[in-house]
Amino acid sequence: MNCKETQRLMRLFLENQLDADTAREFIMHVRSCKECMDELTIEYLISGGIQELENTDDIDVQMELEKRLVVANQVKAHRSQLKAGLFVIAMMVACVFFM
Ligand SMILES: [Zn+2]
Repeated sequence: MNCKETQRLMRLFLENQLDADTAREFIMHVRSCKECMDELTIEYLISGGIQELENTDDIDVQMELEKRLVVANQVKAHRSQLKAGLFVIAMMVACVFFM
C-alpha cells in the first residue's frame, strides 16, 4: 500500500469500515510511514478525537495550563536572577577596575 492509498482510506479506517486485510495493510503502512501517521493523527483529532477532548475533565486541562504557566514563570524568574547576578558581577568588575 502506498501513501496515496493510505491517505484515501484514512476516513474509512477511522469509521471502522475497512475489511480486515485492508486494515492490516493500512496499519502496516502507517506504522512504517511517519507522514501517514501524522496525517492519521490529524484525521483522528478532526473526526473522533475532538469528542474525546470535549469529554476531558476541564480541571485536568486547567491544571495542565497552570503547570505550563508556572514553568514559564520560573524560567522568567531564572532569567531575571541571572541578569541581576551578571549586573552585580559587572559592578564588582567595574569597582576593581576603577580602584
Ligand atoms: Zn505513507
